[in-house]
Amino acid sequence: MTSTQALPSVNNTFGKTVKPISVPKRHLFGPGPSNANPLVLEALALQPVGHLDPYYIDLMAEVQDLLRYSWQTTNRLTLPMSGTGSAAMEATLANIVEPGDTVLVGIKGYFGNRLFDMAGRYKANVQTIKTDWGKAFSLEQIEKALKEHNPSVFALVHAETSTGVCQPMEGIGELCRKYNCLLILDTVTSLGGVPLFIDEWKVDLAYSCSQKGLSCPPGLGPFTMNERAENKLKSRASQVPNWYLDVSLLNKYWGSDRVYHHTAPVNMNFGMREALRLLLDEGLENSWKRHKDNAEALWDGLENLGLQLHVERRLRLPTLTTVRIPNGIDGKAFATHLLNNHGIEIGGGLGDLGGKVWRIGLMGYNSKIENVELLLDIFKSELPKF
Ligand SMILES: *Cc1c(COP(=O)(O)O)cnc(C)c1O
Repeated sequence: MTSTQALPSVNNTFGKTVKPISVPKRHLFGPGPSNANPLVLEALALQPVGHLDPYYIDLMAEVQDLLRYSWQTTNRLTLPMSGTGSAAMEATLANIVEPGDTVLVGIKGYFGNRLFDMAGRYKANVQTIKTDWGKAFSLEQIEKALKEHNPSVFALVHAETSTGVCQPMEGIGELCRKYNCLLILDTVTSLGGVPLFIDEWKVDLAYSCSQKGLSCPPGLGPFTMNERAENKLKSRASQVPNWYLDVSLLNKYWGSDRVYHHTAPVNMNFGMREALRLLLDEGLENSWKRHKDNAEALWDGLENLGLQLHVERRLRLPTLTTVRIPNGIDGKAFATHLLNNHGIEIGGGLGDLGGKVWRIGLMGYNSKIENVELLLDIFKSELPKF
């Protein structure tokens, strides 16, 4: 006998027709996402395979090796977190912070504030060291704060996307060893585009994202931790308070056991594999040089147009440039005009720099001289209208 339970009637009046998707063509010259490499998009469009398929297991190992290359590390625990850069950011703190641990956060922009917020949620005693949005920390400032607060973790942003500053890294890792603390480095806007040496710089944990320097859409957050960090994880008195991001569980899938944890976003990893293969093909140093050369062409061109850049040249980040909005110009209206009439996205300022700067990203696939020329032409022709 079939069940005679009556189902409620479906409300089929949707109210409007929904057409098949059609995405407008955009030049993504903001703080991310940036345009993806078409070869990466082809990889994303392939049929998925099972997340325990031998083919996929091999691909996972390739992704891990390619990430190690991109970061210049031999860290065993190197894997892409399922989620965006913020998920990988959270993974660094979730795995090594125990309640009451002192975490020192370097705040010189928006993403330092995010680290501060997250560390507090893991019940750390969070201390901060701050500098102006547009400046970097000096070694002296950092050493003073390490002495004063005696933290077990120091978290720092390498490439501050909100300000366009690249933090010089010389000596910071050594200081963290001297004061016996772990160094977390946010490399979200540096991976692939800016020189980065995780092992050489004695960085203990780092994270990034797929959609900025790697020419892949958003969806994965590369993560790495070394043995020092692993030892802190192993000596925890309490469980990692976040099941999804617990590296000891994740490593049973990414490591040798291949035990199901969560269903891997298989296609995102196809895309990541291709993005990283393309980076390997180009060569890290060539990619860094391409980003630098194109950024310099952009900086010179903008200055020739009479615009002022927010960061002194020595500290400028090749992947993201902050341009001061000239007095009397409505920066938001200009950005909206570029998007609506020219399909060009640039970013506005965040936090302390809200309304004060535009943020122009030339990351990964987008870092090319044609794009520099396009941007300079559009500033030249459109800005006088504002
Ligand atoms: C974009 C960004 C993040 C966050 O990454 P999402 O992918 O947006 O979650 C973190 N740190 C920095 C420096 C960023 O630029």
